[in-house]
Amino acid sequence: MSTEKILIIEDERVIVNFLRATLSGAGYQVLHAATGREALLMASSHLPELLLLDLGLPDMDGMAVLRQIREWADIPVIIVSARQDEQDKVACLDAGANDYITKPFGNSELLARIRASLRQHTMLKDRRSLMESCFTCGGLSIHYARREVSVEGRRIHLTPIEYKLIVLLSHNAGVVLTHDFILREIWGPFASDSQLLRVNMANIRRKIEPDPADPRYILTEVGVGYRMADNVEYNV
Ligand code: CA
Repeated sequence: MSTEKILIIEDERVIVNFLRATLSGAGYQVLHAATGREALLMASSHLPELLLLDLGLPDMDGMAVLRQIREWADIPVIIVSARQDEQDKVACLDAGANDYITKPFGNSELLARIRASLRQHTMLKDRRSLMESCFTCGGLSIHYARREVSVEGRRIHLTPIEYKLIVLLSHNAGVVLTHDFILREIWGPFASDSQLLRVNMANIRRKIEPDPADPRYILTEVGVGYRMADNVEYNV
């Protein structure tokens, strides 16, 4: 069962009751605002995961509510309207609505659209945090989405294998990865040529370590494997 909060912004009692029953039946937490002003207050204080917004509100146009919300939040907004006009739909979508549903509608259609909007929003958020995520350890930084490695702000050029190696180690910073584990992860399940690993590791060190003979980023665990130093922050 989902526990996302959905704010219903609607002044017609009958529709509110229908929406409330449908949404709570599907496990959502339901909030309700009957006016635009109330909706804006509730959206900022309760931070719902999704808004169902009626266009015809007593105190202000639903479009105005949508525009004000979009100034500060990217919460999914589904317009619920009696207006069938295609131009209305286009205007809402242009103003930042995620979807548009026309009254009357069935509850399974509504729930499917809610799930789709929430899913899309989560995917966007995940994508954004992935794009922004990077690994830093002292002067070393790896920007995963851009596939960029730099030391003290200087771009380092790594081969694809070297890059895979450094990413594997950085994802496991502070943990010793054995030679066999690294070989399998990078070169596949039957890899056993530890010389290949040693050569690649030496090349990476030559590129990133201020003193390759006394490494500070990629440490050797003699006879066991390698470990990325762990004075580390993930900046997401
Ligand atoms: Ca209305």
